[in-house]
Amino acid sequence: MAQVVVVGAGYAGVMAANRLAAVGQSDVRVTVVDPRAEFVERIRLHEHAAGVANAVQERRGLLHRDVRLRVATVEKIAERSVRLDDGGALEFDYLVYAVGSTAASGLSGAEYAHSVADLAGADALRGRLPRLPAGARVVVIGGGLTGIETSAEIAYRYPSLTVELVSQSVAGWLPESSRARIEGKLAKAGVRLRTGLRVTGVRPDGVATDAGFLPSDCTIWAGSFGVPDLALRSDLPVSADGRLRTDDTLVCVDHGRIVGVGDAATPPGHVGEHLRMSCQAAIPMGAHGADTVLALIRGEQPEPLSLGMAGQAIRLGRRDGFIQATHRDDSARGFVLSGRVAALVKERVCRFTLTSMRFPRAYRWLPGPTASESIPAGIR
Ligand SMILES: Cc1cc2nc3c(=O)[nH]c(=O)nc-3n(C[C@H](O)[C@H](O)[C@H](O)COP(=O)(O)OP(=O)(O)OC[C@H]3O[C@@H](n4cnc5c(N)ncnc54)[C@H](O)[C@@H]3O)c2cc1C
Repeated sequence: MAQVVVVGAGYAGVMAANRLAAVGQSDVRVTVVDPRAEFVERIRLHEHAAGVANAVQERRGLLHRDVRLRVATVEKIAERSVRLDDGGALEFDYLVYAVGSTAASGLSGAEYAHSVADLAGADALRGRLPRLPAGARVVVIGGGLTGIETSAEIAYRYPSLTVELVSQSVAGWLPESSRARIEGKLAKAGVRLRTGLRVTGVRPDGVATDAGFLPSDCTIWAGSFGVPDLALRSDLPVSADGRLRTDDTLVCVDHGRIVGVGDAATPPGHVGEHLRMSCQAAIPMGAHGADTVLALIRGEQPEPLSLGMAGQAIRLGRRDGFIQATHRDDSARGFVLSGRVAALVKERVCRFTLTSMRFPRAYRWLPGPTASESIPAGIR
């Protein structure tokens, strides 16, 4: 029986572990290692921060009954074993690398900004926001999907606060018409837009930009993500931004027994270039990673990943939303959905992420773009 260790039990890791257990059955023994006994719904962390949802879910019912959970942090990956922070170690025949992503501003004074990229940051905000006095200024940095959703959620939940979104642009990658509609929705939520600004640093009392200083009582980083440095520390091959480099089947380019999935892995050009860090990509990558491990165990050649994107779904508070349909390479299509219906669809999408992990064997995904489709710039 092959021992498979899955490092990280987020969207990609849980899907990989469940599919391995459900499909592999007597061929595999699956152990998942994660620092938390509970599952963190990262896509709800901005809602958690605003106090309108709880992003912490029990793992019961989410992990396949044959998957063992070890609550610990992996400190180092060696040739056929991992070292844990509790002094233990686990041996593996195959390892699934699924450690996800974290906040990464790279700004000077980053410690003065809260983050919605992880539970600790969202918890801190959840405690802080209700204690801010009326009129206090909350500055959200980042005009991507996370910044848009975070600023709207806080503005709707705390109308007495002044919420400002600071960025060079808002949804800058989308067509002009979509951008204008999102900006209108943010304004309706009460979010003040400060666009055309590049943030250069954070201070305890505000944000430095290339056009001057913006005072802030509570600053939130909602910009780009970075990844844990576990692969780098373990001397595994990584891209410039620290993600595990894999081939087109998701096998690590330098270690035939390690498979990389989710935000922390980067498959090559035609297979992975259009995949932004998202659970939309992480869940199918987890499923495909499981299929790759099973093929390796059976001595078969794994299939290349073929994964397409479907859209970008934004919820602005409880009753408003915007969905931009995309081509499979993640570039915008002409079709959009707006308003309450879009908010409902986004909520359904969020719920479906959990459902899909509960039915790993039946899970299917959209095939990747054809060679003729263009590759857009990164989004989140
Ligand atoms: C506020 C917010 C809103 C978002 N909204 C959307 C959205 O609407 N749609 C969308 O598609 N995406 C969204 N995303 C992005 C999405 O959450 C991530 O892309 C997704 O979580 C990636 O899944 P993953 O499994 O790769 O990593 P994660 O979900 O980050 O899971 C990684 C797991 O690995 C664990 N881990 C890390 N290091 C170790 C270690 N050394 N040892 C053991 N375990 C470790 C972590 O604790 C974590 O549990 C959002 C993100 C945020 C922050």
